[in-house]
Amino acid sequence: RAKNQSDSRICFYKKEMDEASRERVALRGDLKRAIESKQFVLNYQVQACVNSGEMTGAEALIRWHHHERGLILPDSFIPLAEETGLIIEIGDWVLRTSCKAAAASGVKVAVNVSAVQLTRANFAHRVHAILVESGLSPSLLELEITETALIADKTGALHALRSLRALGVGIAIDDFGAGYSSIETLRTFPFSKIKLDRAFTRDLEHDHQAIAILRAVVALGKGLNITVLAEGIETRSQLDIIRREGCDEAQGFLFGRPVATICSEYTIAKRELQTAV
Ligand code: C2E
Ligand code: MG
Ligand code: MG
Ligand code: MG
Repeated sequence: RAKNQSDSRICFYKKEMDEASRERVALRGDLKRAIESKQFVLNYQVQACVNSGEMTGAEALIRWHHHERGLILPDSFIPLAEETGLIIEIGDWVLRTSCKAAAASGVKVAVNVSAVQLTRANFAHRVHAILVESGLSPSLLELEITETALIADKTGALHALRSLRALGVGIAIDDFGAGYSSIETLRTFPFSKIKLDRAFTRDLEHDHQAIAILRAVVALGKGLNITVLAEGIETRSQLDIIRREGCDEAQGFLFGRPVATICSEYTIAKRELQTAV
C-alpha cells in the first residue's frame, strides 16, 4: 500500500510538471511572436534629484500585453527570454525604442541590460549603432546592469562597459546590495551610478541598520565619485531620510509610477520637493 501511495504522488507531481512545462513551451512560442505582433510596450518611470526636485532621467521598463493573458510583467518573462536567447532581439527593441524616446524628449533614459546581452561579443558596437541610428547623444543613455550579470563573464563585461563609458554612456549598477554584492565590483567596473536596492529604502523608517547601510553607500559614492540613487521611494519620510543622509537621486512611487510616455509631471508636487527638510 505504501508503494502505491508514493506512486500516485509521483504521478501527481509528474502531471503538475507536465502542465508547467507545457505552459512554458506555449509561452515561449508566444514570446517569439510577441515582437513582430507588437505586444511589447515600454513604460517610463521618473528619476529625480532629491535636492532640487528636478527630473534627471527616466527608466524604461518593459511590459508584455499578451493577446490572451493580458498584462505580463518582466519578472514573469525576462528569465524565459534569457534562457531561450530571445532576450537579444527583445533587448535590441528595448534599446532602439528607448533611444528614440530619449531623442524625442531630450530626457536621459535608463535601460535595463541582461547578462546575456552584455556578454555577447559585439554588445558595445550594437549600442553604438543604435545611438547613431537614433541620433541620440551618448550622455542621454544609461545602462542598468545587475551584479549577477557581471560575474558570468567578467573580462568580457569589463571590456564592453569600458568602451561604452568611453563613448559617454552612463553605467548604473542596479539593485545594489541585493544578491552577490561586493564592494570590489565598484572598483573594477566603470560605474557612474549606484542604485541602492529597494530592500534597504523599504526599511529606512524603522530600521537603524538600513540607515547605516544607506550612509555607508552614500560615503562610497562620494569617495568614488559615483552618483547614488535610492530605489523604491514611496513615502515622504523615506525621502526626508535619504536627503538628510546625502543621497543624490531617487526613484519610486512617491515621484511617479511607470507610465506610457516620458513624463516630467510628478505625483508629488515639485513645490513640496523644494521645501527644505
Ligand atoms: P528594476 O530594474 O530594479 O526596476 C525597478 C522595478 O521596481 C520595476 O518593476 C518598477 O515598477 C518597480 N518599482 C519602482 N518604484 C517602486 C516603488 O516605489 N515601490 C515598489 N514596490 N516597486 C517600485 P518592473 O517594471 O516589474 O520590473 C522588474 C524588473 O524587470 C526590473 O527591475 C528589471 O530587472 C527587469 N526589467 C524591466 N524591464 C526590462 C528590460 O527592458 N530588459 C531587461 N533585461 N530587464 C527588464
Ligand atoms: Mg533597473
Ligand atoms: Mg533596480
Ligand atoms: Mg530589480
